[in-house]
Parts: sequence; C-alpha cells; structure tokens
Amino acid sequence: ELVEFNMFFNRIIDRFEMSKSQDVQFIRYIPETTYFVDIDTDKLTQVIDNIISNALKYSPDGGNIRFGFTVQENMLKVMVSDDGMGIPKENLSRIFDRFYRVDRARSRAMGGTGLGLAIAKEMIAAHGGKIWAESELGEGTTIFFTLPFELDELDEVGDWE
Ligand code: ATP
Ligand code: MG
Repeated sequence: ELVEFNMFFNRIIDRFEMSKSQDVQFIRYIPETTYFVDIDTDKLTQVIDNIISNALKYSPDGGNIRFGFTVQENMLKVMVSDDGMGIPKENLSRIFDRFYRVDRARSRAMGGTGLGLAIAKEMIAAHGGKIWAESELGEGTTIFFTLPFELDELDEVGDWE
C-alpha cells in the first residue's frame, strides 16, 4: 500500500501522545516534504509501536522522546530517540535477537517477551530497509531504520510516454 509517510508516522506518534500516562515530552523533527512509501501498514505500525513502547518503557519521568526522519542515500532514515537508561555497548547488537533482553531482572519488572525488536528487524528487512541502535549507557538510546521511498505518488505508475 502506498502511503504518505509524514502523515502515517505522525498518526502513530499522536496515538501514543494522547494515551501516554508518563510525564514524557514528545518532540518531532518531521520534514514538510511529502514522501510516499510502499509498505504493509499493519506491519510497519507494529514495528513503530514497539519502538515507541520501548522508548516509553525505558524513559524516566521528565524525559524526552524525539521523533524524526531524514533522507539518506535514497532511503528515508527514521529515528526514535529517548533519554532513558541506555544499553551497554556489548549488548547493543543483540537486542534484535529473539528473546534477548539486556537485563533479566529489570526486564522482568518491565514486562514483555523480548520479541519486539526481532520482529521489527524481520519486517524492516522485508521492506528493503535496515534497523539498528545507538546508545550511551545512562544517557539514552536511538533506534534508526531505513525505508525505500518515492517522492511522487505517480512514480509507482511509471512512464506515460
Ligand atoms: P516485547 O517487545 O516483546 O514486549 P521487550 O520490549 O523486552 O519485549 P524488545 O522490544 O525486543 O523486547 O527489546 C529487547 C531488549 O532491548 C529490551 O528487553 C531492553 O532490554 C532493550 N531495549 C530496547 N529498547 C530500549 C530502549 N529504548 N532503552 C533501553 N533498552 C532498550
Ligand atoms: Mg519491546
């Protein structure tokens, strides 16, 4: 399904912003330009839901969550960034593994199964993109993913001549 990414992303952020119970600020860096992405909207919603749930789950009261995207090498590069507890460097690559959770004790208290990011990785790969994390322990975590895009709705239809 071809959807306008700005609107699609904003709607998901809106839904979390309206229902959140924590004292966490949402800050958006969303460009005005129109970008179309050809995606499975249910699956991409599930991916972004998990990334935002994680950011909220690991954010302290008074924290900020930043949302944004830019264009890089013909892809949209989307980011969700929190100032939560962060992830130790040596565990960073493993958070996309099935059932992997950084700290068993703290994770048990937080709930969840450790499948969210593994599913996100599969789904982003199926869309031709990549997903990765950057984090500083005690300072926060940023999740990035990329997606191929079209600048114009008609790009999909092809050449008229
Ligand atoms: P589920 O998503 O299945 O409910 P989960 O959130 O624990 O469970 P993932 O979303 O796959 O599982 O995340 C894996 C682990 O990565 C988490 O348990 C947590 O340890 C770490 N993690 C993910 N996002 C963040 C974040 N924003 N800040 C700190 N740690 C994170
Ligand atoms: Mg999760």
